[in-house]
Amino acid sequence: MKVNLARIVFLFLLVCFVLRSAAAQPAIRDLEPTVILLSLDGFHPDYLNEYQPPTLNRLARKGVRAEWLIPAFPSKTFPNHYTVATGLYPDRHGIIENNMYDREIGAVFGLSVREQVENPRWWGGEPIWVTAERQNKRAAAFFFPGTETLINNTRPTYWKTYQHDLPNEQRVDAVLGWLDLPKAQRPRVVTMYFSDVDDAGHAASPRSEATRAAVLKVDANIKRLMDGLKRRKIERKVNLIVVSDHGMAPYRLRDAIVLDDFFAADDAERIFWVGEFTQIFPKAGKEEEIYRRIKAKLPATADIYRRGEFPARYKFGSNSRIAPLVVVPKPGTVITNRKRFNEAQQKGTLDVVRGGHGYDNADPTMRALFIAHGKAFKKNLVVKPFENVEIYNLMTRILGLSPAPNDGDLSRVRHLLK
Ligand code: AMP
Ligand code: ZN
Ligand code: ZN
Repeated sequence: MKVNLARIVFLFLLVCFVLRSAAAQPAIRDLEPTVILLSLDGFHPDYLNEYQPPTLNRLARKGVRAEWLIPAFPSKTFPNHYTVATGLYPDRHGIIENNMYDREIGAVFGLSVREQVENPRWWGGEPIWVTAERQNKRAAAFFFPGTETLINNTRPTYWKTYQHDLPNEQRVDAVLGWLDLPKAQRPRVVTMYFSDVDDAGHAASPRSEATRAAVLKVDANIKRLMDGLKRRKIERKVNLIVVSDHGMAPYRLRDAIVLDDFFAADDAERIFWVGEFTQIFPKAGKEEEIYRRIKAKLPATADIYRRGEFPARYKFGSNSRIAPLVVVPKPGTVITNRKRFNEAQQKGTLDVVRGGHGYDNADPTMRALFIAHGKAFKKNLVVKPFENVEIYNLMTRILGLSPAPNDGDLSRVRHLLK
């Protein structure tokens, strides 16, 4: 009898403790329209079916999914993130590639050149976080290209310097922490970024165990976010927009075009050997010769363009930052130079299948992801593909902001919203 009483008291205390810990996370009851824009770098929409990530598929089922999202050309990381953020094509916002060369001042922009990434001069147009801040709504960024830079003299109220290896869990928890702030300090638009799927796609190709594992990993990170929102009783209210910047195409270096076999690389002042979108800055008076030589030998697996002569559908080629000559291979092919090719041959890595992007934005391999879930979005809806320039207007509409001039048109995506 005595023992039983002790047990009852113990169980009672245990129940009290459990209830208290569950209640330790206060609900957020005064949430205003809020957008979380999450980018999963290099996530091809086919991965939803191939790798069956449970959380993403649940969000896609319950909310809106596009058959695919059409990236901007070139299908590279910085140009496309900044297109999603501004609604402008890369030609117009100025981040025309991950690597840029400004001949006038001799400055080189690259993802790891912090001083340039943070230099406002490269970044044109008005990204969503600047639109929000300028209209007195706070923005927060746990990474997104451009959020580390003063644009129109404005940065998100909360932002972080990019750190590739910072665990995604910490990013998620920090975002939840920002939402816990009192209403006056709470951000209305939050950007997030996970690189894992792109990393794996490059290293091991889209069809690989590594890519499957990365897809399931970011899915678990999104579950952590959704569980956090649920504990705060806002998982149906927050508008979560999950996008990717581009897809991924498999290639082997054995099939690469060894470009400097075709012309004298010394005739160029600078060449960005990035694999896909290859920019050549000829020395004075050498442009015609380089163009002719490459054109004469280039196989059908690539095209060479003068800056102003890209196909019209790319909506690309008027920005003066673009190199005078650009070689663009077809998906499945990369561009390299003799030195790198020979090194790979010696190492025996020519037949390793890897992944790349930067190609024709209409190619099926370059398709991107769009899933949206939350109060403003319709439910159980699959929509036809649309371009990523449309996302800026969707966000300003949800947030009640007046949009800056941009290349999107709300009427093309209005049907996604309630
Ligand atoms: P890409 O070369 O187009 O495949 O670019 C992908 C890489 O961009 C990722 O591996 C990230 O490390 C890098 N990245 C993404 N966001 C940022 C950022 N804000 N600053 C610097 N690098 C970034
Ligand atoms: Zn990317
Ligand atoms: Zn990439």
